[in-house]
Amino acid sequence: METPAQHSKKPNRVSESGLRINISKLSEGIHDFNLQADPSQLELGDTFTSPVSVNVKLDKSSTQIYLKAEIALDGNFTCDRCLIDFKSEFRTSFNIVFMYEARGLKGEQSNDIQILSPDTNHIDIAEDVRQYILLAIPIKILCSENCRGLCPSCGTDLNQNQCKCDSETHDPRWETLSKIIKNEKNN
Ligand SMILES: [Zn+2]
Ligand SMILES: [Zn+2]
Repeated sequence: METPAQHSKKPNRVSESGLRINISKLSEGIHDFNLQADPSQLELGDTFTSPVSVNVKLDKSSTQIYLKAEIALDGNFTCDRCLIDFKSEFRTSFNIVFMYEARGLKGEQSNDIQILSPDTNHIDIAEDVRQYILLAIPIKILCSENCRGLCPSCGTDLNQNQCKCDSETHDPRWETLSKIIKNEKNN
């Protein structure tokens, strides 16, 4: 009777993605892979426009495979301060240790330690790549660290133009500094 194929224990929403690595004939030591996937295959929505490029370094030993993945892709973002749309390269990375199944190790899986059955032929990191990209999208997206945003009174884009409103109070980044200067003057 045939034993059923070992499946990854976490839900795998991503099908054939190009982010699969054949480890069945891999010698011990360090190996590099350049993998690519389409953002739509990773269900990343329409924020990302370029293919997802993943540089993978594997260090294989008899007991485990250490994997380091560096992800790069282009995305279209909207600045939370000035509301312009801008294109930006997006990078993130992650590490996973795949440990070959040994007695007593079962059930100790986490995101960065995964258990491999000794007869596993492929490592598929598509779901990991997807999740690390989604985790790495900042909550506050800025077109630049120095974005001056929109004037809260008249809506002028302060990166482009100056308006006639009282601008001193508009930039929250200077608030602390102005307080310090004020205090120094008072002392
Ligand atoms: Zn901006
Ligand atoms: Zn204004």
